[in-house]
Amino acid sequence: MNRVYNFSAGPSMLPLPVLEKAAAELTGYGDSGMSVMEMSHRSPVFDAIIKNAQAKLRELMDIPANYKVLFLQGGASTQFSAVPLNLIGRTGKADYAVSGQFSSKAFKEAQKMGYDVKCIASSKDTNFDRVPRITRDMISPDASYLHICFNNTIYGTKYDYIPDTGDIPLVADMSSCIISEPVDVSKFGVIYAGAQKNMAPAGLTVVIVRDDLLGYCDPKAPTMLDWKVMAENDSMYNTPPCYPIYIAGLVYEWILGMGGLEAMKECNVKKASILYDYLDSQSYYTAPVQKSSRSIMNVTFVTGDADLDAKFPKEAAKVGLVNLKGHRSVGGMRASIYNAMPIEGVQALIEFMQDFAKANPKA
Ligand SMILES: *Cc1c(COP(=O)(O)O)cnc(C)c1O
Repeated sequence: MNRVYNFSAGPSMLPLPVLEKAAAELTGYGDSGMSVMEMSHRSPVFDAIIKNAQAKLRELMDIPANYKVLFLQGGASTQFSAVPLNLIGRTGKADYAVSGQFSSKAFKEAQKMGYDVKCIASSKDTNFDRVPRITRDMISPDASYLHICFNNTIYGTKYDYIPDTGDIPLVADMSSCIISEPVDVSKFGVIYAGAQKNMAPAGLTVVIVRDDLLGYCDPKAPTMLDWKVMAENDSMYNTPPCYPIYIAGLVYEWILGMGGLEAMKECNVKKASILYDYLDSQSYYTAPVQKSSRSIMNVTFVTGDADLDAKFPKEAAKVGLVNLKGHRSVGGMRASIYNAMPIEGVQALIEFMQDFAKANPKA
């Protein structure tokens, strides 16, 4: 079968070698005589799979020993509720920065639950074309945490800095940028991510949490949302998302085999640069994001003409470049170029953009 270049924001492309390995092991994993999908999560064979995935993620991200790695379900969106449930008990208050749709949802979820939360920074005024500049003096001294969304999948922006929060734990939704480049985990209290952008099929949510932040969970919180319970049970309080955990392990091994996150970053920066360089070199397409906030994972652009914006993804799909339509809330185009997108895919996109501009002159 001919595989397309899939620019979907998520679920998104997985590395072909990972899919091939999974295919080879689909009906029989090792000498277990069964698929990973069929085995008990309490079996020694699966125990080795989950422990390996965890160890490989620790190695890849260089996660310090005083952090727990949890493999949960419910998507990043469930963590919008779990974050305040687990952390706000420290002081009763929390701060949020709103940089796009997901951070806004996280903020609203905490508000909906009746918590005392404050939006201390937002880039809504400029239609989220950049990330907010957060300085120490903006953060409430008695906040239990500051929540940010590190890479804004829909708008195509990314924090080009790690906000300095002093002693206040920084909590980051990294769903669309985790393991795309090295990040200093020790600068964060909590990092969480839905796996379906850069790590695995949908169904797995990774939470990386500093030890000292466990133990503040609202006693009325659902047990399933209590990170401490999940940590004490090695993410196996109940049945974990076994198959996505197995694939995540293969993805981590694939990146380690390429040289780890430094190598991954080099590759991702190269892909993003050729696309942004092209965007900056012409006037048919416009990239709405401020240069300093540009994401290397999600690249947004528009033609400035609604009909052409609608035509572009349809024509692109005909030549095997699929899912280039922007998010329904912002329109235009978005190319999600996660780890698994080869540079050839980005080169093919640029060629198509040139052809499309020639074939569809603006009135
Ligand atoms: C996709 C995404 C989400 C939502 O993830 P689900 O796993 O679907 O709940 C949240 N935050 C960011 C940054 C995302 O990219």
